[in-house]
Amino acid sequence: MTKPKRARLTSIASRLGTLDTRTAQPAPKTADPELKTAEHQRWRAEVIRRAKGACQAPGCGRTGIRLFADHIVERQDGGVLLDPANGQALCGSCHTAKTARARAARMAEPYRRQLHGVAERL
Ligand SMILES: [Zn+2]
Repeated sequence: MTKPKRARLTSIASRLGTLDTRTAQPAPKTADPELKTAEHQRWRAEVIRRAKGACQAPGCGRTGIRLFADHIVERQDGGVLLDPANGQALCGSCHTAKTARARAARMAEPYRRQLHGVAERL
């Protein structure tokens, strides 16, 4: 006894495109010219070399992954661009998390100062 043949259903590609609802297009990503200099490339290579292939974030230590040379005190917060003492090698997830924490702290700073001023007047 043979199995009855059934028509096979094939999926049909959507004919609808994706709608871009953004009202303003983001500016194209461009690397900061400060980061393209030979001096910065040397700083970066030194920071990565020192790490001996491991993420330097406390409690991480991942190896066998791409490392990013990170400014411990971010440049936006006054960190020195080419000081090897201001560099550490971080894996992608630690670098993303640290950058987000630094950004959140930077954005909260005016409110923190305001609260501190209120507390001083009490
Ligand atoms: Zn890490």
